[in-house]
Amino acid sequence: KLYNLVQDLKGNIRVYCRVRPFLPGEPTALSTVEHIEEGTITIRVPSKYGKEGHKPFMFNKVFGPSATQEEVFSDMQPLVRSVLDGYNVCIFAYGQTGSGKTFTMTGPKELTEESLGVNYRALADLFLLSDQRKDTTSYQISVQMLEIYNEQIRNNSQNGINVPEASLMPVSTTDDVIQLMDLGQMNRAVSSTAMNDRSSRSHSCVTVHVQGRDLASGTIIHGSMHLVDLAGSERVDKSEVTGDRLKEAQHINKSLSALGDVISSLSQKTSHVPYRNSKLTQLLQDSLGGSAKTLMFVHISPEADTLGEAISTLKFAERVG
Ligand code: ADP
Ligand code: MG
Repeated sequence: KLYNLVQDLKGNIRVYCRVRPFLPGEPTALSTVEHIEEGTITIRVPSKYGKEGHKPFMFNKVFGPSATQEEVFSDMQPLVRSVLDGYNVCIFAYGQTGSGKTFTMTGPKELTEESLGVNYRALADLFLLSDQRKDTTSYQISVQMLEIYNEQIRNNSQNGINVPEASLMPVSTTDDVIQLMDLGQMNRAVSSTAMNDRSSRSHSCVTVHVQGRDLASGTIIHGSMHLVDLAGSERVDKSEVTGDRLKEAQHINKSLSALGDVISSLSQKTSHVPYRNSKLTQLLQDSLGGSAKTLMFVHISPEADTLGEAISTLKFAERVG
């Protein structure tokens, strides 16, 4: 309960930033990032982006290249745990393709215990806490995985075929979750060979539904958590793409800016929140706003030649915070 109080004092919308390390083979001579300190990240701005110099951006939390998956999750843990108290939580991973969104949410391709991402850790933690509370509360936890591609919602079903109905799966162990998530990855892999890494051009969402029944009073509470690995935020050069790629790019643009509009209007507490402008914000309408808690987790690549994208990511973060 103290945890929640602390979270509530922080407000319902938080913005975090993570800078991934250089990968093998990437030139490390120059980095986008000049300096990281507490909640501030300072970016090197060369003259081609306006006035040359250094620009600081402030966040609720910044994770540098050496941050571990465990450190990242432990900071988010109180937020995740509040789901068992009946809160609705949304966690978004935002950033250009290659900036580390999937690493944060799922992990790298070859998963080890240390490299497990937020999705697994969050579910495992909910199982742990619900077990600790089993003498007072009986919890039912179920998970649903879906993808939004070109403004259409698809569910990942057991037989690998996309079905229109919601596929809610009851889960009670981390093994269940790993099985379910591998399945989703597999489905995405199938479509990605067919469509040239579609995963970076769709939003992928793991939704956790929780029902808790107080054993003494019989009172029922509901909580939910959406863990969203967003489509890559990179700007696509309109002169270079046509047809399906152009349509995809336009859908991504539209839905990411609609998400930015919704979160920024919630943080400014405006009376009209424009949920209707994209499938993503329609889908999450009940979990954004009111007492719901939102974490926008933006990702930055250190490579100097991605500076333009880094700056636009940081500006997006500034707008929603
Ligand atoms: P995105 O999902 O944003 O396109 P990925 O998560 O696929 O990006 O990351 C791109 C590459 O960088 C992958 O090979 C991934 O394993 C690696 N990577 C990303 N973040 C980290 C990190 N924090 N530590 C080590 N490797 C990382
Ligand atoms: Mg990815």
